[in-house]
Amino acid sequence: MTDITTLNDARQDLADANRILFKQDVVDAFGHVSMRDPTNPNQFLLSRNKAPATVTPADVLTFDLQGNLLGGGAHKVYLERFIHAAIYAARPDVHGVVHSHAKAVVPFTIVKTARLRPVCHMGGFLSGIIPNFEIRDHAGMGSDLLIRDLRLGRDLAQKMGSSAVVLMRGHGSTVVGMSLKQAVFRAVYTQNNAQIQAAAMALGEVTYLTDEEALAADEANTGQISRAWDFWSSQTQE
Ligand code: MN
Repeated sequence: MTDITTLNDARQDLADANRILFKQDVVDAFGHVSMRDPTNPNQFLLSRNKAPATVTPADVLTFDLQGNLLGGGAHKVYLERFIHAAIYAARPDVHGVVHSHAKAVVPFTIVKTARLRPVCHMGGFLSGIIPNFEIRDHAGMGSDLLIRDLRLGRDLAQKMGSSAVVLMRGHGSTVVGMSLKQAVFRAVYTQNNAQIQAAAMALGEVTYLTDEEALAADEANTGQISRAWDFWSSQTQE
């Protein structure tokens, strides 16, 4: 395939990802999803600043790993693009990033005694300690909580480490995948796991997956991502 065909397919996938995440209630008017440029690993693709449900392939812009817009043009860009830039720079394994304010996840960013953990097999990628980024440690007591520059993006990426998810206190979360489709899949199931976990915690003592169960489940689920993507994508055509 030529680079231009590859790039056009990527733009279409990214537009689909935006619409899927809206349909699956991960994003609303806010939140964004990106993918590493399949034709140049030192760049990533991200929509111009607009609501995810309205993104088309023509809205997709290219950025470098410092968050600078490439290719010229006077486009309005997402303020928090540095989340994506810094994670792609820090994590060569990552090819998709979803940042959202998904409602079911936010409580786990603000309740000190609650820790997001895998409670069902679809949440297997949540094994280990899911880090929670406290922006007060990096931007003081009076910030607007947004990742509005590359320094904060790098601090967030450092907190994320090798995790699939980083929580952001009082704000939301950022989820990564080894592909765009895996990032979307994980963003959907981060929210699902959070909903199930909160419901279970309200009922009583919770049995969590062991790390071994979680890793095995994640491996099994990784083979099923296209089934979910194809179905979710078909629902965006309605
Ligand atoms: Mn945000």
